[in-house]
Amino acid sequence: MNAVLAELLLAVLLAALAALAGWFAAGEVGAELMGFGAVAFFFLRQLWMVLRLIHWAACPLGTPTPSASGAWGAVFDALHRRGRLASAEREQATQELDRFRRAAEALPDGVMILDGHRAIEWMNLQAEACLGLKGSVDTGSRITHLLREPEFLEYLDSPDHRGVPLELHTQRNPGRTLQVQAAPFAAGRTLLLVRDITQLQKLATMRRDFVANVSHELKTPLTVTLGFVETALDALEDTPPLEIAQYLQTAIEQARRMQQLIDDLLTLSSLETDSPPPLEDPVDVAVLLMEVRQEVEALSAGRHRISLENQGPRGLLGSARELRSAFANLAVNAVRYTPEGGEIVLRWSVEGEAGGRFSVRDSGIGIAREHLPRLTERFYRVDRGRSREAGGTGLGLAIVKHVLERHQAVLLIESEPGRGSRFSAVFPPHRVQP
Ligand code: ADP
Repeated sequence: MNAVLAELLLAVLLAALAALAGWFAAGEVGAELMGFGAVAFFFLRQLWMVLRLIHWAACPLGTPTPSASGAWGAVFDALHRRGRLASAEREQATQELDRFRRAAEALPDGVMILDGHRAIEWMNLQAEACLGLKGSVDTGSRITHLLREPEFLEYLDSPDHRGVPLELHTQRNPGRTLQVQAAPFAAGRTLLLVRDITQLQKLATMRRDFVANVSHELKTPLTVTLGFVETALDALEDTPPLEIAQYLQTAIEQARRMQQLIDDLLTLSSLETDSPPPLEDPVDVAVLLMEVRQEVEALSAGRHRISLENQGPRGLLGSARELRSAFANLAVNAVRYTPEGGEIVLRWSVEGEAGGRFSVRDSGIGIAREHLPRLTERFYRVDRGRSREAGGTGLGLAIVKHVLERHQAVLLIESEPGRGSRFSAVFPPHRVQP
């Protein structure tokens, strides 16, 4: 304000001086001419400055303001200061937006922003992957043109979709189950959250199946046990003791089956929760093999020819308890599924670049090819009746697989129906002590 007043005063002073000089030089006419000239100069200068201001305003953001003296200098300085402030604020806003975008990119779930016409404004990489879209191509397109599943269109149209997610199967990402949740926000926009829940659903199904299987497996022997104990109790007075003893013997066998099942379940559970097997403790393989051999010989009771070949490394690094359980499970299966007179060979040998291989070969019933990939699933049996008869729980190979995984080893299965099977546990060199 002061600068404007000063400029005005200066102009008036200059005009007066010019008029005075003109009056001295050429009398009244000279004074008028010089005074008019000074006023015209003053207005032309203002016009010139306004033109410079207009030109500057049309330049790209960040162009320095024109330099000038007096009131115009003050105007340009003020504009310059405001410009600097605005660009600092802009810079800060850009940085914040960038941070927000990076955070949204880092989210494990898909995020998408739709405008008022349901066109995609922005989406993160997870959203692209889940919905089978491509940001560079599909941004700007309407989501309803890209995902045409009726349940999705209906969900977007329903006003009460807030807070309730939709389970979606889309042809753009076949075989996956997605969970989509829409949340309306500012100016008719919609925030779409997308999550791939295929794995979660699989786990939930597995858990449900597992509980159903366990209940079923326990229920059968429990019913039989109860039946025989009740019969024995009812018949106590008028039945010979030998017959009662037979009833009770059957009840005991069924109780043992339940006990075995619970033992296997506890083993599986501890394999899932225990800390990893140590790398420092060497297990004496010769002792381990002798123990396993004794166990299967007791089970076979002379019905099979059982031999042991030990040409492998001296020690295995890991958990003796877990390894004994895995080796014994493989050997016991060989006895269970090999008819009387069959042959069983337990073998410990060097594998590849100084790894180790424990194998159990039998001349038993063998397994058809289609069953092989599923054998290590919990409760999977080729022949349920035969497994039960032989005292199996359906958890043996699941335990073996777990133990081997914990020792970075793999289970290989070769089998031919009617000719026999070979189950091998192959250990990597770092688990073997030469
Ligand atoms: P189970 O307690 O029933 O033996 P496992 O998990 O140990 O359960 O084995 C799963 C299934 O694999 C068995 O029910 C059986 O059908 C098959 N199996 C395992 N080992 C052998 C084998 N040596 N010979 C033939 N079949 C086998």
